[in-house]
Amino acid sequence: MFKKNIIIKDKKDLRKFYSNIKYYRTPLFIFTKFYSDNKEIEKIIEALNIKRRCKRIRFIYDEACDEVDKFCEGKNFCCFKNGVCRNKLKNGCCRKCFHVTDKGCPSRNLACKLFFCSKITDKHKILLFDDLKILYALPFRCRLIVRHDFFTLREEILMDMYIGWITILFIRYFYRSICHFLYRRFRKAKA
Ligand code: SF4
Ligand code: SF4
Repeated sequence: MFKKNIIIKDKKDLRKFYSNIKYYRTPLFIFTKFYSDNKEIEKIIEALNIKRRCKRIRFIYDEACDEVDKFCEGKNFCCFKNGVCRNKLKNGCCRKCFHVTDKGCPSRNLACKLFFCSKITDKHKILLFDDLKILYALPFRCRLIVRHDFFTLREEILMDMYIGWITILFIRYFYRSICHFLYRRFRKAKA
């Protein structure tokens, strides 16, 4: 195994590191172990040292979710009371999702976690997708998926990212859209 020590002395080094991640995550560095004593990039270094693709994707996704949870801890932006949010919506943004339960989301969806309506964004500083630097350790295609995979369970998102074939990905998206459509029609008919 080769060794690569990442030395970060200033913001310029940090920017350089972020822009080099796209090379570090490729098979070119599969036999390289990264080191750094910089705390800010510690989780990215950990991700880059995970050489199995599915394990790395899972680690990055969970770390990003943890970062959002930590940021939102104790803030209660949406002011939920008896399942009704600040916008007077039962189950808030989750109301149209067929995964939602009485206790909220049964899974971890990063796109959903980062989404807030204008009532919140007008008043509070929220975390944005680009603030989650660990996501740089994912390929562009996976970042696109994570950003747009709303109404989907964690395991499905991980699978979407793991699948390399765009055709299979679209079939999965299409299947899920049909399920959501049928679910909404069923709920409307029941109401
Ligand atoms: S983001 Fe807005 S609409 Fe969504 S749950 Fe929060 S207050 Fe309600
Ligand atoms: S997947 Fe998203 S919309 Fe569905 S329950 Fe979870 S957070 Fe809500």
